[in-house]
Amino acid sequence: MAEPFNIAVFNGDGIGPEIMAPTVEILQAMANNSGNYSFEFKYADAGASHYAKTGESLPEASLQTARDADAILLSAMGLPSVRYKDGTEISPQIDLRKELNLFAGVRPVRIAPGQKSPLKLDDDQLIDFVLIRESTEGLFYSQGKGEVSEDQASETMMITRETSEDLFKFAFSLARQRKELGQGRGEVTCVDKANVFRAFAFFRDIFDKEAAKHQDLSSNHAYVDATALWMVTKPWSFDVLVTENMFGDILSDLGAGLMGGLGLAPSADIGKENAVFQPCHGSAPDIAGENIANPFAMILSAAMMLEWLGLKASNQDMIDDAKKLRDAVDAVVIDGTKATRDLGGSSDTTQAGQAVLERL
Ligand code: NAD
Repeated sequence: MAEPFNIAVFNGDGIGPEIMAPTVEILQAMANNSGNYSFEFKYADAGASHYAKTGESLPEASLQTARDADAILLSAMGLPSVRYKDGTEISPQIDLRKELNLFAGVRPVRIAPGQKSPLKLDDDQLIDFVLIRESTEGLFYSQGKGEVSEDQASETMMITRETSEDLFKFAFSLARQRKELGQGRGEVTCVDKANVFRAFAFFRDIFDKEAAKHQDLSSNHAYVDATALWMVTKPWSFDVLVTENMFGDILSDLGAGLMGGLGLAPSADIGKENAVFQPCHGSAPDIAGENIANPFAMILSAAMMLEWLGLKASNQDMIDDAKKLRDAVDAVVIDGTKATRDLGGSSDTTQAGQAVLERL
């Protein structure tokens, strides 16, 4: 068998270690069962608790473990009670995005047939689209650089040609991959506000140039305000959406709401060399230490990691196992009885993880 995949594991803060434990157990069990791939898990320290103990939020050794890894699994980080001297929170997950240039924030929005959602859907209706949020610039470029005077405040949005080209290349390649896997129809929508802002006209122009290189795929544009409406009124009409950082930040929480909450929302932050897989939610300090957190968003993020590594290494077993893992979580969520409390079930974190293993 080939070399094991080297996985950096950040347990993080709050519920982080509780949701990571069943996730690693499931990945290990799937690898053992397959025999066609394996993992070496390397645990790395970072986060608010680590900062409180040592004065360091993301030690250089942990950053190096992340750089050297084939993929990075990260649970949630940060605690409202632990802050830097300037009052801001410890957020190594954002530092990692910058350090490793993880420009593509991939946020799948899936509602399996029969899964509860605030939307009124037919029993056999499947919602399956992906939102790609540019994660290194846009309005977030201004983080910590905004200018505030007595009478006015300003923040600057940055859109660069280089990052936009990488972002759109990634979006079209993901759309092609989804089409080949039977998950999408090969369509990319650029979500912007090009009717008002020159920066977005620039963004759209770069998108159009990239789109012209992919005649086998289709492309279109949508304004962000209309997109918010359509995510609620006709979410089945989307395949791959690609947008600026701030717009993506807001739309991805709307996507999580459609899926029934943050406990079911996975994500990946992907760059040219590295990728971090983590749930969309935070460290949930209000329920930490009780073993009642929902581990499904973390487990679904691990499924994204399996698929990403499998596609990179042309390992069909891993690609198939990613789908099996998603299907197993769907089945537990739809059945409901073994789900955690936030989804209306009564299982604790360990039992919910075991329910996924049993389905597998
Ligand atoms: P949060 O996502 O941690 O919690 C919001 C609410 O959702 C809480 O009521 C919580 O109990 C619930 N919740 C979240 N995840 C859950 C799960 N898996 N199962 C069941 N319930 C769940 O957001 P917050 O309270 O705003 O932030 C708490 C801390 O997390 C803060 O320090 C914040 O900075 C940090 N944070 C980290 C990340 C990240 O690591 N990517 C993201 C968001 C927030």
